[in-house]
Amino acid sequence: MEETRVRFLRDKYLKGNCIDCGKKIQKQSKRCRACFCKSIKGKGNVNWKEFGVGYVSLHEWVRANKKAPKKCERCGKKARLDAANISGKYLRDLRDWSYLCRKCYMNEDGRINNLKQYGGD
Ligand SMILES: [Zn+2]
Ligand SMILES: [Zn+2]
Repeated sequence: MEETRVRFLRDKYLKGNCIDCGKKIQKQSKRCRACFCKSIKGKGNVNWKEFGVGYVSLHEWVRANKKAPKKCERCGKKARLDAANISGKYLRDLRDWSYLCRKCYMNEDGRINNLKQYGGD
């Protein structure tokens, strides 16, 4: 293949324009990072995991919006409680969360190991 043709294909593959602001983006995606962030805001019940929202910050959201009880919601033990997800979908929905003691938390939220990639926000 000619050099110009190769370059054309490579540029076409690598670059695009943000569909919102028209800014050049390096990756194959529809929006630049800023517009992508804007586009997911204001949506109601999104699956945050899908958008790579930090696992940690979602837990913080639960803590901020759902008052921790004195006892574990599963076994009733008085202990330090952690917000645990129930459905495994990590919904931004308080009904999908409960406060569990360490032991119940580990049972319920064992999926945490699979979610390390989303952690550390
Ligand atoms: Zn943009
Ligand atoms: Zn418990």
